[in-house]
Amino acid sequence: MMPHVVIVGCGFGGLEAVRALSTAAVEITLVDRTNHHLFQPLLYQVATAGLSAPAVSAPIRHTLRRQMKRGNLTILQAEVIGFDVATQRVLLDDDQALAYDHLIVAAGATHSYFGHDDWAAHAPGLKTLADAFTIRARVIGAFERAERCLDATQRDAWLTFVVIGAGPTGVEMAGTMAEIAQHTLPQEFRRIDSRRTHVVLLEGSDRVLGSFVPALSQRAREQLARLGVDVRTGCTVTGIDADGVTYETRSGAAAQHHRVASKTVIWAAGVAGAKLGQALAAGAGAMVDRAGRVIVKPDLSLTGHPEIAVIGDLASAMSHPDDPRQGKPKPVPGVSPAAKQMGRAAAANLLRRLRGAPTLPFRYIDHGNLATIGRKAAVVDLTVPGIGALRFSGYFAWLFWLFAHIYFLIGFRNRLIVMFDWAWAYWTYERSARVVAQPPSPPAA
Ligand SMILES: Cc1cc2nc3c(=O)[nH]c(=O)nc-3n(C[C@H](O)[C@H](O)[C@H](O)COP(=O)(O)OP(=O)(O)OC[C@H]3O[C@@H](n4cnc5c(N)ncnc54)[C@H](O)[C@@H]3O)c2cc1C
Repeated sequence: MMPHVVIVGCGFGGLEAVRALSTAAVEITLVDRTNHHLFQPLLYQVATAGLSAPAVSAPIRHTLRRQMKRGNLTILQAEVIGFDVATQRVLLDDDQALAYDHLIVAAGATHSYFGHDDWAAHAPGLKTLADAFTIRARVIGAFERAERCLDATQRDAWLTFVVIGAGPTGVEMAGTMAEIAQHTLPQEFRRIDSRRTHVVLLEGSDRVLGSFVPALSQRAREQLARLGVDVRTGCTVTGIDADGVTYETRSGAAAQHHRVASKTVIWAAGVAGAKLGQALAAGAGAMVDRAGRVIVKPDLSLTGHPEIAVIGDLASAMSHPDDPRQGKPKPVPGVSPAAKQMGRAAAANLLRRLRGAPTLPFRYIDHGNLATIGRKAAVVDLTVPGIGALRFSGYFAWLFWLFAHIYFLIGFRNRLIVMFDWAWAYWTYERSARVVAQPPSPPAA
């Protein structure tokens, strides 16, 4: 009988692991709670009505149709609720259990509100399609509510948007919301002037896009300012409620307290490993790091459990250089190329183990970092083999970002749709996915 591999999660890591294993003499069961693979890097476009959901996602069964033909892959849409590591079983939400010989867990990450889970109701984060629909309804609904609002103070609060966290997602969200207010909506409302919209980007550290070099962070800040985004750094959020955000800044030992009245707050600040990681770690005697990610061995397996690998955003992994003279191991970042590379590496190590060969430590090949800020503005920080760092910003960076994302999208049809929608939006400023089924939120008391 062929060994049975269970893979949990069909994001970037899980999908790559399935692809790498499907030609091997193994039986694979892939489990995901959704029926689609999601291209998260373009999710903010769904949240800001630039793209529709099917443009940035693809049905798992269709994506893996070629692998299905090989006859060794089963796909199950189910929620994994835990693991029985001792008997090697994955526990599903309907009381079923899947026995495995090898397990790859790629369940991704979730939002972290740094111990303030009550903030989630007022400041949704962006991780799934459902999150994107919630944010889109709130953003579009806020302009509708402002148009109906007779009280000037309340109207200003409806026209104030706060994004918390100035990483790539926060910067993309803030830049795009400013663009919508300035260019898409001005002709469409009678009582309000959408150009008076105030987009505030709050960041705890002293610069935006902290994973980029300081010069590119500075360029990004200037590009955001040009779009009209009010960037405030060095701000620690201390409270979020239905009417706004409170935060603290420090000068020396003294703290200053501030308040922004806003009806629409978006959380782009904290990421933590999916809850499933803690269940796995508890069962397998593994450790989790401060962000709730499972600490893995150099070959991505768990200590004492070579049959279990954890990959992608759920793994706290180190990249090991081929030659120790090239430097110390470095933490692997939570980005899609890293998840894909881990998916391939975990599959290769699993096959090595089946052959009785030693496994290899994981090495992350970092090709660089991209972030867009809005129309015609982006920053690019590439590592080009043989040349070194290639850094640029502005219009050409934006074009580079655009084509890179189209290239990496799954499915020819999706690429065509995205190209068409972006070209249309470029000339008309129109956003193609503004139809929202939910009514705007009820009038404030
Ligand atoms: C808004 C946003 C923008 C981003 N932008 C970029 C970017 O520009 N560039 C970049 O490189 N990276 C970006 N990232 C990060 C990148 O998307 C992640 O690093 C990558 O998706 C991680 O892949 P993964 O396979 O670990 O997890 P995911 O892709 O998140 O996949 C996890 C899968 O597991 C499934 N799952 C989770 N829990 C369960 C369960 N209990 N039972 C069954 N199934 C489960 C989920 O449904 C999902 O399909 C972005 C992320 C977000 C959220």
